[in-house]
Amino acid sequence: MPAVLEGLKAKIHCPMCTRTVDGLAIPEVRLGRSRLRVMPGQKCLRCHASLDAGYVLELLPEPAPVSKGGRRAA
Ligand SMILES: [Zn+2]
Repeated sequence: MPAVLEGLKAKIHCPMCTRTVDGLAIPEVRLGRSRLRVMPGQKCLRCHASLDAGYVLELLPEPAPVSKGGRRAA
């Protein structure tokens, strides 16, 4: 059964143009430790190089749910 790849929005460092671009990361458990790796098959938004060789800098925060007309309770 193929594992479901669940992409997480992340900042990914592109080794080709040495810029940080938005991309998808997937959690990978190796040797009992969980780490993040670049989801395979992505291309850099800037230089169109493969991001497979890049690395994940950080995850982007999930977009906060928008509360309409809500007032923050002080
Ligand atoms: Zn690039």
